[in-house]
Amino acid sequence: MTATNRLSTGRIDPATGDQGRAFHVYTQRNLDRITAVRHLPADQRFAMKVVSTVLPFRVNDYVIERLIDWSKVPDDPIFQLTFPQPGMLAPEHYTQVANLLRRNADKAELKAVVGRIRQDLNPHPAGQLQLNIPRLPNGDLVTGVQHKYRETVLFFPSQGQTCHAYCSFCFRWAQFVGDKALRIAATEAQRLHAYLRQHPCVTDLLVTGGDPLVIKTRHLEAYLEPLLHRDFDHVQTIRIGTKALTFWPYRFVGDADSDALLALLERIVAAGKHVAVMAHFNHWREMETEVCEQAVERIRATGAEIRTQGPVLAHINDEPGDWARMWRKQVRLGILPYYMFVERDTGAHHYFKVPLVRTWEIYREAVQQVSGLARTARGPSMSAGPGKVEVTGVAEVGPRDVGPEQVLVLRFLQARNPDWVNRPFFARFDPAATWLDDLRPAFGEREFFFEPEYRERWTSLLH
Ligand SMILES: *Cc1c(COP(=O)(O)O)cnc(C)c1O
Ligand code: SF4
Repeated sequence: MTATNRLSTGRIDPATGDQGRAFHVYTQRNLDRITAVRHLPADQRFAMKVVSTVLPFRVNDYVIERLIDWSKVPDDPIFQLTFPQPGMLAPEHYTQVANLLRRNADKAELKAVVGRIRQDLNPHPAGQLQLNIPRLPNGDLVTGVQHKYRETVLFFPSQGQTCHAYCSFCFRWAQFVGDKALRIAATEAQRLHAYLRQHPCVTDLLVTGGDPLVIKTRHLEAYLEPLLHRDFDHVQTIRIGTKALTFWPYRFVGDADSDALLALLERIVAAGKHVAVMAHFNHWREMETEVCEQAVERIRATGAEIRTQGPVLAHINDEPGDWARMWRKQVRLGILPYYMFVERDTGAHHYFKVPLVRTWEIYREAVQQVSGLARTARGPSMSAGPGKVEVTGVAEVGPRDVGPEQVLVLRFLQARNPDWVNRPFFARFDPAATWLDDLRPAFGEREFFFEPEYRERWTSLLH
């Protein structure tokens, strides 16, 4: 008997309705049908309509009934994580859309206005679209693939461009709003496999989305099973980026093909590869349900590891104590904390952004509260154009008598040029900066050390 079979009966009390639940989803169109929402004041409901006309909204019964504490709405972190909030649109955008909805404007007019607003929201930060899509030797673009850091290839399976619910801050939002030109999607697995065959330097495949675990197991098999062939021995790690442990843990417990999914992970592990479920978590409250804990247990029983990552967000998790509690809980469940991210400058960034200096304080104060086993999370890290930049800290540099300069110490955790990694560099102290672009070099220098090369080798490709 395999580990998966052994666990498949589950220990969850059927009376709680936690096993084999039907997936029931709500979007902007049927927002009013959510019972809990009907109890909210009319102006709050209207604001939700306005915001979700521009930003993607999708939530399911599990999130509504098991994760959100409706007695704490609107401050509840899971409510903030999934439901549209009035502050998410700039006031002028909000007013524009609100007026159109109030006077029942026709679809075409609404669509045009919404399209313009979305363009203003920086749908593809950090040159994602133009810079990272590789080519095969015959010149074909390998669509659905991004290859930015030497060791790791990202793959976006076309059926995985959605999620079991949407995070209100998500930088992938441009992929969800149905604009084909904005969509980064794979046409087929074959090109991915051809690309991997030709790149022996690649050790990691990171399957991402959206959420690739919205895909039926038999389709995931078509992408992943061929990688067990010896042509792909160099690909030693398969990572799967997902938020299913938060938004739909039934993907691993009680769904029609959850046993098949676990069996697939088990086969990949048995074939000698490292399988890492890269779970996106923002708050310890996402891990409190029995079904989430059982999902974790079942994944770990396959031999796969679970690593976690997520951004620091105003209104959701900008308290160090919440991070400490989340990391402790993860360690207790046998999960490895991996990255703390800085929220990207896209979508509703102005609502969720946290100054870099503050993200470092949150990280530092959180790490101080946990044992070494929970300090495996690195960060706070910005996934910027040149690479992943860690805010290492704030320091004073220079002789005290002449007045030292206060600086931000930074380093690359990942970089387009591997040689840039782990060289400390310095920016002028700026308590308001929220992204790498806001920072200026310290000590009167004109540019950061990597900028000339970045400009010459990469950004010139953008024009
Ligand atoms: C974060 C990231 C990776 C993975 O980086 P690791 O540090 O190995 O986790 C790969 N590609 C891109 C584009 C990324 O942003
Ligand atoms: S689960 Fe991931 S891809 Fe989906 S909305 Fe949330 S952050 Fe975005």
